[in-house]
Amino acid sequence: MPREDSPAGESRLALVRRARRMDRILAETYPDAHCELDFGDPLQLLVATILSAQCTDKRVNMVTPALFAKYKSAEDYAGADRAELEEVIRSTGFFRAKAGSIIGMAQTLCDRHGGEVPGRLKDLVALPGVGRKTANVVLGNAFGVPGITVDTHFQRLVRRFGWTAETDPVKIEQVVGGLIPKRDWTMASHRLIWHGRRICHARRPACGACPLAALCPAYGTGPADPAEAAKLVRPGPFS
Ligand code: SF4
Repeated sequence: MPREDSPAGESRLALVRRARRMDRILAETYPDAHCELDFGDPLQLLVATILSAQCTDKRVNMVTPALFAKYKSAEDYAGADRAELEEVIRSTGFFRAKAGSIIGMAQTLCDRHGGEVPGRLKDLVALPGVGRKTANVVLGNAFGVPGITVDTHFQRLVRRFGWTAETDPVKIEQVVGGLIPKRDWTMASHRLIWHGRRICHARRPACGACPLAALCPAYGTGPADPAEAAKLVRPGPFS
């Protein structure tokens, strides 16, 4: 029976099977998919994820070695000279707001969590400047807690895939969480984001070079001609 939550008009069972087949194909296509931000501990990943807003992971990775050498603990960030911190992160854009978020986040870590990054969603999203996306990145990659990271690539792809027509990130997270087994949430997020960066671009996706073509209702959004599509593929890495 067609379901409202299946934009492709298939049964719930067919949608779940198709979604899992697509994720398996992406797993074969991107066996080394991973978080493209460089980090060594939960605090570094939290800071790097805050910096990655409106910025490429590559740019963040250029800034963080000097940043992490200068600020090693939540106490260091909490007590940072704001102008100095802004200068180090300036090239990531929106540096004033990001410096404010990092200092506020670190002060809260010191006040409420003994200077440690908490490993629970509800504690993470209560930190200044930390939304669900950032919290799920930290949970999934620094704590091994399955998390779905709904970024701009993820949103675009799940709609093209016909997995959901939702536009609200929290609802998208819930729908995809019901399609993909929980143990795979973190890696499935990486795989989708990698596919969005490499093949299924916002403008001119490389449909003719896409391993998901047979299962994707949006096939044909970009060039179907294999030679033309091959020119659109960006091999990465992006970090
Ligand atoms: S077939 Fe086209 S729209 Fe569908 S996932 Fe592949 S590149 Fe994206």
